[in-house]
Amino acid sequence: MPVDFETAISSGVAPVGGLFVPATLPAPRSEATMWPEKRSEIAEELLSPFVGAGAISRHLPAICSKAMSTFPSPLRAVDEAGKLQLLELFHGPTAAFKDLGASFLAAFLGQVADPEEMQTILVATSGDTGAAVAAAFEGNSGFRVVILYPDGLVSPRQAHQLSCWRGNVHTLAVSGDFDDCQRLAKGAFADHALSTACRLTSANSINPGRLLPQMVYYAEASLSHFRRTGRKPGFVIPTGNVGNAFACLLARRLGLPVGDVVLAANANRPLADFLETGRWEPRATVATLASAMDVGNPSNVERLRWLYPDFEELRSALQLTSIPDAGIEQAVRTAFARWQHHLCPHTATAFAAWCAMDEDTRERDWILVATAHPAKFDTVVEPLTDVAVRIPDQLARLLARPASRTSLAPDPHALRSFLQEVAVDEC
Ligand SMILES: *Cc1c(COP(=O)(O)O)cnc(C)c1O
Repeated sequence: MPVDFETAISSGVAPVGGLFVPATLPAPRSEATMWPEKRSEIAEELLSPFVGAGAISRHLPAICSKAMSTFPSPLRAVDEAGKLQLLELFHGPTAAFKDLGASFLAAFLGQVADPEEMQTILVATSGDTGAAVAAAFEGNSGFRVVILYPDGLVSPRQAHQLSCWRGNVHTLAVSGDFDDCQRLAKGAFADHALSTACRLTSANSINPGRLLPQMVYYAEASLSHFRRTGRKPGFVIPTGNVGNAFACLLARRLGLPVGDVVLAANANRPLADFLETGRWEPRATVATLASAMDVGNPSNVERLRWLYPDFEELRSALQLTSIPDAGIEQAVRTAFARWQHHLCPHTATAFAAWCAMDEDTRERDWILVATAHPAKFDTVVEPLTDVAVRIPDQLARLLARPASRTSLAPDPHALRSFLQEVAVDEC
């Protein structure tokens, strides 16, 4: 059953248990000159067909300018010819790419929400989403945030960053992995009585309000490269739950000058195996050095199959390279030796996937997507290079705050009781 954009974003998960997808896609634009140059205007044009003509559409320019202006996503050339570049998506408040989608979601929900009705944002995180959502909603009196993260399976600085929020943010350390957290969240949304009583809203990458704005940095980077060189850059994207990569593929479908798309995965192979065999089978999650990508059952594969209903078409639309931990370590060392530049372990999977290409392919124009700042993963990166990573100011400020969290068993009843306690009170 079709719903409008506001409903899709406010509920996050479709009522029948699946994910929201657009009913139709706008026609692609073939010319780069047909897109504006300013980021917030690109965002407006990309998102307005999805938002539609309803009441919220007149607020879209304000929402975009609020969400898109807070921090930049610069392209940094790492070779002399400027053919290999890093797209740095980690200049936001929590130093990972999730900040952009989270700030759009906060700006959007802030506009559509009824100020009389407190909503609860429930978010399962593999390490970075939770902090980004907390940063975007902290102190916002219309919302309360409940974070579920896998205890012991995120980096120490990530754990701190997930637990350092005040007031309206609650952090639950789940004794399980990310898939357990995701299952708990999905179960709570599917529990109609609970989700109505707490006015639950999802903020995972399954929420279109986070997913779709991620197209903006692909648009901005590909347009700027294409206008400068006349060539479409390829993107290599560190991939876990397949939200970020999906946004890139969707941007290409809408006509942006994106060339080849290569997904760089870690040792978690559900998507790699699917592309090989055509059979979709979720896997148990394997813990790796690129922990924010430790996903055994990536939800957005459903959307990938929607975008490419034909399996052969899907296979030719993207490539995937799976990088084991040893390859991640090697990539961190090689990048540092070549450029005196630290990569986070996730970004390192993209560099490793680029290194694994044959020489002719490497000669083309490539953008490696840098999904997090290496200082978030100092315990992985520093022993490999023997050099300390400089901590960016925004991260230092969060690390200086006190942290507190509540332990939770990976049990739907435990989550239900917690939510009833913190989130049903005044509604
Ligand atoms: C979330 C995350 C990823 C994976 O992105 P998906 O959209 O889940 O594929 C990669 N790198 C970092 C640093 C992340 O936080």
